[in-house]
Amino acid sequence: MAKYIFVTGGVTSSLGKGIIAASLAKLLQARGIRVTIQKFDPYINVDPGTLNPYEHGECFVTEDGAETDLDLGHYERYLNIFTSQANNVTTGRIYQTVINKEREGAYLGKTVQVVPHITDEIKRRMLLIGQRNEYDVIITELGGTVGDIESLPFIEAVRQLQWELPEEDVVVIHLTLIPYLKAAKELKTKPTQHSVRMLSQEGVTPDVIVCRTEEPLSPEIRKKIALFCNVKVEAVIEAADASTIYEVPVTMMKEKLDLICLKKLNITNYPDAELTKWKEFLDKLRHPKSKVTIGLIGKYIELQDAYKSILESFVHAGAMNECKVQILNVHSESITPDNVGEKLGNLDGLLVAPGFGHRGIEGKITAVKYARENKLPFFGICLGMQMAVIEFARNILGLSKAHSTEMQADTPTPVIDLMEHQKKITVKGGTMRLGAYPCAIENDTLAKTIYGKSLISERHRHRYEFNNEYLSQFEEAGMIASGKNPESGLVEIIELPNHPFFIGVQYHPELKSSVENPQPIFVHFIKAAKEFASKRVSRNAVLEREMI
Ligand code: GLN
Repeated sequence: MAKYIFVTGGVTSSLGKGIIAASLAKLLQARGIRVTIQKFDPYINVDPGTLNPYEHGECFVTEDGAETDLDLGHYERYLNIFTSQANNVTTGRIYQTVINKEREGAYLGKTVQVVPHITDEIKRRMLLIGQRNEYDVIITELGGTVGDIESLPFIEAVRQLQWELPEEDVVVIHLTLIPYLKAAKELKTKPTQHSVRMLSQEGVTPDVIVCRTEEPLSPEIRKKIALFCNVKVEAVIEAADASTIYEVPVTMMKEKLDLICLKKLNITNYPDAELTKWKEFLDKLRHPKSKVTIGLIGKYIELQDAYKSILESFVHAGAMNECKVQILNVHSESITPDNVGEKLGNLDGLLVAPGFGHRGIEGKITAVKYARENKLPFFGICLGMQMAVIEFARNILGLSKAHSTEMQADTPTPVIDLMEHQKKITVKGGTMRLGAYPCAIENDTLAKTIYGKSLISERHRHRYEFNNEYLSQFEEAGMIASGKNPESGLVEIIELPNHPFFIGVQYHPELKSSVENPQPIFVHFIKAAKEFASKRVSRNAVLEREMI
C-alpha cells in the first residue's frame, strides 16, 4: 500500500504549490522511491477543458486524453513520467459521479449529503492510484486556499484520512506566505498562524510548514512559526524566491523537506539523492554560451500561464543548446502587413501559438508570411500550423479566399476543415481529438532529421485538420506533409523543404518536453535560431563595414 503526502495552501493563492509538490516528488524519485502526484481542484467544471486560458492558464493534456490542470505539466516535466485522467479530479467530477450513482439508485432510501457521500467519493479518488501497487508515495496537491468555502469537502476528506490511515502513512504539508514588511524591516508570521489555525479548526494538523518568503528565515522566526503552528523547528521549511523554478528541488533538498517527510512516513531504506542529470541541466541553464530571441505570436500573451508548456519547452531546449532563449511576446492582433517587418525584424525564430476562434488570425497569417519569405526559422503549433497552411494556400497557391471553416464556415476553399468524426458533435467538454496518437514520418524530411525515427507519438487537442483534398496541390507547390496518422491519413506535420527551418505540427509537442527529455522539435528550432542569429551578426557586420 502506498503512503500519502497532502499539500495544502494558505494565506494566498499562487504560492507555487505545484512546484513545491513537484520538487518534493523529484527528490523522492531521486532516492529511488516510486512516486506520483495528483491534483484535486475545487471548481465545479468537470475538467478545465472548457475554461478560457485567461481564467485558468493552459489546459494540459495527458496521454490518455484528459484535459487537466497545468500543474500536471510541471509534474511530468519534473518527474519525466506520464500522468493520466486519474491524476486530476475536480469538484465537478466528484459531484457528477455521486449524482450519476444517485440516479442509478446506488443510495436508494438514503439522503445524499456532502458528508459522507461527497467526502467518500473524494477519499476513494485520493486513494485510487495508490491501490495500483505501482507507487510507494502519492503526493496530493489540493487546489485553492484553506478557508475557501469550496475547498472544505477536500480538507474534510484529508481530515478523515489523517484519522483513518496509520499515522505513519500520512504527511500534511501546509504551504504558506511569510510577508516581508519593508517599513518595519520584518518578516511577519501572523498570516501563517491564522492560516494554520483555520486548518486546525477544520480538523487537519499539518506536519510540515513550507514558508514562501523573499527574505531568509532567521532561527528565531523558525522557532516562532514552530511554536505557534505545532510543528518541530526542523519541519519549518524556507522556500525562498528562486531565479528559476528548476532550482526549487535543490533548495528543498538543502532544507531537507524530503527527509522530514520520509521520517514521518517511516521510510528508512533509501539511497542518497541522485540528481546528477538535473544539476547538469541547471548548470547549462545558468551558464548559456549564446542567446536567441524567439517571437511568440499569440492572443493570450498577457497571461503567461496560457502558454506554460511552450515556455517551459523553450527552457529545456535552450539548456540543451547552451543558449539563453529570450521570448518576445507579440500580440497577434497587433500585427499588420505594414508593421510586420518592424515587429518581427529582430527575431531569430518565430513560433505561432495554438488557439481557438478568429481573433488575431490575420496577424498570425501575416507573421507566417514574413517568416516564410525572410527564411526566419518558423514553428507552428496546432492553430499555428493551420495558419501556415492558409498562408501558403493564399499566397502561393493563389487561393485568395482560403480559410479554416472554424473561422469562416462558408469559405469556398476550406483548406482546414472540421474532422469527419467531429461533424455531429455538439457537446463541448472532452469532445476534441484528445491525447496521444501515432504519426508516421516520411524519409528525407526535416521531421525525420528532428525525430530520428519513422514512427512517433504525440498528444493532440483540436477539432480541425488539414483538408486532404488539397494535399496534392500543396505538395506540387512545395509544402509537403512529412508526417501523417498511419491509420486515418490525417496530416500531422507540414514543412517547406526550400526553407532552412519551417515546420508546422497539428499536435502539441510542448506537452511532452521534460528536463531530462527536451522535446526534439524545440531543440532543433533553437539550433536553427542560433544559426540564423549568427548569420545575422555577420550580415550586420558586412553592412556596417559598407557604411564605413
Ligand atoms: N482551433 C483549432 C482546432 O480546433 C486549433 C486548436 C489548437 O490550437 N489547440 O483545430
